[in-house]
Amino acid sequence: MRVLKFGGSSVANAENIEKIISILNDRLQQEKLVVVVSALGGTTDALITSIVLASKGNDLYKEELQKIENRHLETVKKLLPVSQQSRVLSLVKQLCNQIEDICNGVFLLQELTPRTKDRVMSFGELLSSQIISAKLQSAGFENKWVDARKIITTNSNYENAVVDFEETNKKVLEYFSSSDESFYIVPGFIASDKNGITTTLGRGGSDYTAAIIAAALEASALEIWTDVSGMMTADPRIVSNAKIIPHVLYREAMELSHFGAKVIYPPTIQPVMRKNIPVWVKSTFSPLDNGTLIENSSIKNDSSVRGISSINKIALLSLEGSGMAGIPGFSKRLFETLANEQINVILITQSSSEHSICVGIEETAAEAAKRAVDEAFAIEIERMKVEPLIVEKDLAIIALVGDKMKSHPGISGKMFSSLGKNGVNVRAISQGSSERNISAVIATKDVKKAVNVLHEEFFETSYKQVNLFIAGTGNVGSRLLSQLLQQQNYLQKNLRLLIRVVGIVNSKKMLFDEKGIDLKNWKELLQNSVEMNLSEFVKTIQTKNLRNSVFVDVTANENVANQYEDILQRSVSVVACNKIAASSTLSRYEKLKNLAREFNVHFLFETNVGAGLPVIGTLNDLLLSGDKINKIEAVLSGTLNFVFNHYNGTKSFAEVVKQAQDEGYTEPDPRLDLGGVDVVRKIMILARESGEKIEMEDIENNAFMPPECMKGSVDDFYNCMKKHEAHFRKLYDEANSAGKKLKYVASYESGKAKVGLQQIDPSHDFYHLYGKDNVVLFYTNRYIGQPLVVKGAGAGAEVTASGVFADIIRAVRI
Ligand code: ADP
Ligand code: ASP
Ligand code: MG
Repeated sequence: MRVLKFGGSSVANAENIEKIISILNDRLQQEKLVVVVSALGGTTDALITSIVLASKGNDLYKEELQKIENRHLETVKKLLPVSQQSRVLSLVKQLCNQIEDICNGVFLLQELTPRTKDRVMSFGELLSSQIISAKLQSAGFENKWVDARKIITTNSNYENAVVDFEETNKKVLEYFSSSDESFYIVPGFIASDKNGITTTLGRGGSDYTAAIIAAALEASALEIWTDVSGMMTADPRIVSNAKIIPHVLYREAMELSHFGAKVIYPPTIQPVMRKNIPVWVKSTFSPLDNGTLIENSSIKNDSSVRGISSINKIALLSLEGSGMAGIPGFSKRLFETLANEQINVILITQSSSEHSICVGIEETAAEAAKRAVDEAFAIEIERMKVEPLIVEKDLAIIALVGDKMKSHPGISGKMFSSLGKNGVNVRAISQGSSERNISAVIATKDVKKAVNVLHEEFFETSYKQVNLFIAGTGNVGSRLLSQLLQQQNYLQKNLRLLIRVVGIVNSKKMLFDEKGIDLKNWKELLQNSVEMNLSEFVKTIQTKNLRNSVFVDVTANENVANQYEDILQRSVSVVACNKIAASSTLSRYEKLKNLAREFNVHFLFETNVGAGLPVIGTLNDLLLSGDKINKIEAVLSGTLNFVFNHYNGTKSFAEVVKQAQDEGYTEPDPRLDLGGVDVVRKIMILARESGEKIEMEDIENNAFMPPECMKGSVDDFYNCMKKHEAHFRKLYDEANSAGKKLKYVASYESGKAKVGLQQIDPSHDFYHLYGKDNVVLFYTNRYIGQPLVVKGAGAGAEVTASGVFADIIRAVRI
């Protein structure tokens, strides 16, 4: 004998029912079959809606019932030839009339007991099983309809009745051994108590019906046919990349289902495990897929973590108090109290100080638990030995399950560090000594992120998903977006990083797409998107709560830089080419660095100095490896270098500056470059990164611009430079006649930093510095006579974008 169960979606409509017929056709050639069916998908919910409406005196229940009836009548008409319909149609009518009679009674009394609710719910399976039995009959499969209530006996705990296995096993055996049919159809979910009153086995309980019968008959196998091709490494509705688990142990399947893997109703495994009956989970919609085999034998050479599951709507109860330590009996009383209230404890932790016991229960039972526990401990609470019960809601449990986790060190370390890096706060942890399950209580809002992070950590061999929020679509931003597009495949293949841009904002518009913005069309999509609202943008980063998120600031905007604190505190890394934050006050710079450390994320700004050149990275590597920076000398302004390299008397100074701006080498406001402020910011950042506590005012800026040019607008600035052409010419001529070149040099030594225009001798490293190049000389304990030199293009959108890109990769790889 083999037992098959078809779930709600497998029998949701005539088309699906046809599918199960062909599955059964194969099986019937080989063995006797018991087929357990659920109600047509959604019927149980619809029945509950109707009866609840009726109990509230709302006559809309009639409409609901009509819908249920029509759906079943329709299904019959589609399934059966006209000549065979009338018997089944009248059976459906009869059953629906019974439901209506009960609902009418409830409507009149406006009272709904669990017993009546069970009675109404039972009609879903009664209807579906009768229809399917008739369809099979008409297709030539002789079968016998069996009333599950006659063979499964429970207690009278309506809605969640407990099976009396002794009685049930006897009845099942008696029934099937006295019948010589080879094919039976049984409604799942329903049973009856000792008085013959209808009960149900709990929502999703048809799986259990099948397991009870399979165990009693010692069936050759139990097959659970559903809408997915097996038990998966995580809930596919949460993790799009969840994979089928081909082979799983009973104990593991049990843990996974207890902790939320809805594909199997939790009590299902127990009876079949005792009889060592293999269980298959298969898809009605892809019957050729292998599915999952659940059995007892161990699996060689495979991963230690089998799956991840989660349960929402959890409340955490904490019983705390100094009077609890060392006195036996507190936990016994707590659990007894909860048990008396029929409250199921899902998770337990107790601090070793014994000052508190913490249990996770279903949120719906929280009020009852609070009332009962506070009453049970009333005396201790009054004497201040324990606190009133603390109840926290909006929580969830996530669980990592695997029989072999116990023999693999480091799994919980990996679990909690990846959660921590993504800002998932863990409220309680529980790990049984069997170490088959490590579970953690977290906020409900973090579940999706947490499960995905863990799935990537433990199962993802193909890639890790990175979610970027990009502010700024100017020169650098648009280059960055095209570099990201170009590199997407390479990164996925070589670094296993799936980089997606999920948010873009510029000064006018903002755009989000959680599935990843199409980078081929971002301009058009952004254009047609909503008005920019920066705080809304930042709030969305928080509400989307995506794993491995990075905020990328490719603006030069102060408002954007002001968001970093908020963003870092949400455990989102910040990559900035915007210099405002790193060059603001020392206290802010330090605060941002500390926040990044505290929240386990990155604050990276390599492009603040030398565009794409590895200047800050090199400096950090020197320090990390134990070196000490003694002196830095540098030409840090690509703009000024460009300007002095091109200014030779043929074009006016103003024209050369304009050319630099047009070619994208200047800051959006070129005065920041020309006045030396940009260089001051850069040397300050290098000094700070070297460990110097330095502020902007501490840096000597020997500017060469006439002060009056630095006032007014950018247009005024250009006009003013024209007016002062003679001044610039003089600077050039003096250097030129001495055989020297003008360079704007920044230096840092012995705690002091300064910047200014210098005439550079041909023998100096800086003399041969062309175009918009930058150069940085690091004199350190290890690089004494000959400095470590970093040299190359120090400005330009393309190289800056690639520096930002490198920071993004750095932020997500470590
Ligand atoms: P049925 O109606 O056939 O009993 P259910 O809806 O009860 O089907 O269970 C199947 C569903 O369980 C799947 O569609 C899937 O969304 C969900 N599910 C949750 N966790 C898992 C998991 N780990 N593996 C497979 N499915 C899961
Ligand atoms: N029809 C019941 C429910 O929806 C039982 C089941 O489908 O397993 O809960
Ligand atoms: Mg189910």
